[in-house]
Amino acid sequence: MRIAHVGIDDTDSNYLGMCTTYIGALVDERLKGLGYAGIGEPRLIRLNPAYPMKTRGNGAVHLRYYIHDRRDASRLFEEVENIVARYATLKDPKTDPGVVLLVRDDQYPPQELEGFYLSALRGTVDLSAALRILMNLGGMAAWFKGGRGVIGAMAAIGAPEGSSTVYELLAYRSAGLGKGPRNVDEESVRLADLETWPMTYDNYDWYYMEPLVAPRGPDPVLLGIRGPDRGAVLRGYDLIKVDCRVERLLIYRTNHGSGSHVLDLESISELKPYTTVRLEGRVSKRPIMGSGSHVFFELEDSRGFRIRVAAYEPTKHFRLIAMGLEPGDRVRITGSFRPHDPDPPTVNLERLEVLELAQLTGVSAPRCPKCGHRMESEGSGKGYRCPKCGHRDRSLRPMEVRIPRKITLGEFVPPPRAHRHLTKPPEASIWEGRPSCSVEE
Ligand code: ATP
Repeated sequence: MRIAHVGIDDTDSNYLGMCTTYIGALVDERLKGLGYAGIGEPRLIRLNPAYPMKTRGNGAVHLRYYIHDRRDASRLFEEVENIVARYATLKDPKTDPGVVLLVRDDQYPPQELEGFYLSALRGTVDLSAALRILMNLGGMAAWFKGGRGVIGAMAAIGAPEGSSTVYELLAYRSAGLGKGPRNVDEESVRLADLETWPMTYDNYDWYYMEPLVAPRGPDPVLLGIRGPDRGAVLRGYDLIKVDCRVERLLIYRTNHGSGSHVLDLESISELKPYTTVRLEGRVSKRPIMGSGSHVFFELEDSRGFRIRVAAYEPTKHFRLIAMGLEPGDRVRITGSFRPHDPDPPTVNLERLEVLELAQLTGVSAPRCPKCGHRMESEGSGKGYRCPKCGHRDRSLRPMEVRIPRKITLGEFVPPPRAHRHLTKPPEASIWEGRPSCSVEE
């Protein structure tokens, strides 16, 4: 027996609906119905969140089945192609589906594709490079229109097994139901969160009292629950009440919450467009709140290179932390970099670590040497007078005082409603058994 690795991507549209994970579920049911036994868990692999051509969460799927021979593989491939042709939103000019099939001796993601996955996760790759690699591996590809989806489909197959340790249960309503809120009972989402957190996460935004499990777009996803423990994810789902028919359900293993999309850079001069980076430096310009209530400040690294950093409006109270920064503060920022023409190049913050706070000083009138009361200035160069005991002194000078800072040292992340799929959530420190240093204020 051999293993057929199937990758699928780019089947959906922001305005016409559909979802690659839903097509993955249809494919899985169809193939199993035809007698193909699955092996391993279905995987939903998120790729570069800063890639500009993505529809939403830049996700692709990887499915695996036992096959007998090449003929069997071709039959399976044809089935997958037919389902994608039938359900993908081909009418959207931006939808360019791709399907990839690799036949291997085992279920494990081919090591030869690991580098390709990492490039698609952290940078930008082109289709011709993808096709060359696929040909060398003896794989098959089918594409519709531009076929850009082949990139994501290959990257999903190449994501190492250990890259995906979080489960996402996805429940679907019928495709084509249009956009708008799903009929999910809010109280039950709160209960499910209380009961299963931290082994499920981002179910509910307690800061803004808003359920996060259900999307609002025209796609067939009714709700999704994620966490590192399959049992907790299932328990969470059991607790959530929905007032509509659940058409189907699939649990994917994903690279969500891994933080693996982030590149560590030594200097701002190494920034490349459409990457997510982690950088250290000092705040060089005081934060301002601009139009749209976005907050901007400037960061300077140890080599003197500077970059604009933004905490955008959707990050809500996280912006207050950014606003509390002062020139001289040492920080480590994590965020996606966009050239932003005609705006200045900007890093869009998704995490902020405050490492060192600059000491802020100001001046104040001195204390009265006789009674200790705060004195008042008599005018420029005319000394001070105590309003309590009347003592006057022309020789006294203003005192230097320390101004208390509005923020503390620590690691800050936006509220759950603004989390990206790949962003490491504060709960990850609990899963990993290390003391939590993520604080949100
Ligand atoms: P959804 O999450 O709703 O399924 P999406 O956000 O995944 O949608 P797609 O419609 O799949 O968006 O579009 C992303 C497209 O970009 C795919 O064709 C994929 O192959 C391609 N792609 C993804 N990451 C990269 C990358 N790093 N470099 C080049 N192409 C990429």
